[in-house]
Amino acid sequence: MSRIPLISGNWKMNLNHFEAIQLVQKLSYELRNHDYERVEVSVHPPFTNIRSIQTVIDADRMNFRLGAQNCHAEASGAFTGDVSPAMLQKLDVEFVIVGHSERRALSGETDELVAAKAKSVFAHSMVPIVCVGETLEHREGGEAEAIVETQVKGSLADLSKDQLSQVVIAYEPVWAIGTGQTASAEDAQAMCSHIRSVVAAIHGPAETELRIQYGGSVNVSNAAELMAMEDIDGALVGGASLEAASFAGIVSFQEV
Ligand code: PEP
Repeated sequence: MSRIPLISGNWKMNLNHFEAIQLVQKLSYELRNHDYERVEVSVHPPFTNIRSIQTVIDADRMNFRLGAQNCHAEASGAFTGDVSPAMLQKLDVEFVIVGHSERRALSGETDELVAAKAKSVFAHSMVPIVCVGETLEHREGGEAEAIVETQVKGSLADLSKDQLSQVVIAYEPVWAIGTGQTASAEDAQAMCSHIRSVVAAIHGPAETELRIQYGGSVNVSNAAELMAMEDIDGALVGGASLEAASFAGIVSFQEV
């Protein structure tokens, strides 16, 4: 079964809505129709920019999938400052990142909370990109596989079998995010293969449909090698997605 890679730009807390519009326009200018035939491309602006980017994508018929970086698990309620999946759905958002390591570390998100968010994202007809990944301490202590396995099982715990074949998992070793250090293609492949077998054990044969992204300092120079790996089906890109030429270079990677 061939899986269409998903390449996602996580803009984090960067760019105001004017800058965001410029970036998406430049990106669209850099890419060609055949690029979108090989891969799906999602952009994940901060909440304040989503409406502006939705309007531009729609008006200029761009081929980007609109994404968000987070959401609350509830559809509405007394949660000051939060944004609900129902609001994102209304903005034509298709993919929502949940459980990014920055949110796990800085906002105390647990696997249980990530599982509730992933379930709610599906309930609102969007697809969650569920992030998992070990710290340097875990890797050096030989615990990387066990930690990631626990995160995968915990974060997907509330999903149905059908949802387990549609979910996207982003394997992002914490030590590789924003550091310029990338996991070797072989190490990334080994972990993504492990993740696929963990999901297969819960789900059965449809694990072949599951898309697993690699994230952690992906750039124009390492994208092709990573994406050539059998169990890597795309990339979650932070820093390099903030510049149109570098993100376009990743999207149009040449197969090795
Ligand atoms: C990320 O934000 O998920 C990420 C992988 O960032 P970077 O590409 O900058 O390491």
